[in-house]
Amino acid sequence: MKNEIEIPILKEEDFVAANLRRDKYSQIRDLQAQEFNTAIASRLLAKDKTPVKCEKCGKEFTTEINTKDLKVCPDCR
Ligand SMILES: [Zn+2]
Repeated sequence: MKNEIEIPILKEEDFVAANLRRDKYSQIRDLQAQEFNTAIASRLLAKDKTPVKCEKCGKEFTTEINTKDLKVCPDCR
């Protein structure tokens, strides 16, 4: 038993409004994605900036590059 499905035809106003809503929605999505990426980036950066204790003077220092072998602070270098 099949009934004929009537598809409502949107008025142009509704169509424009829907487009605007979609644009606004995608803008919000873009913004959220951007904030998310920034959060990940700063987390990764923070991970890279894990304090390293200097082997010579014992002072803790941070470095942006991944320095597993370099355990001497800039003052002792
Ligand atoms: Zn040092």
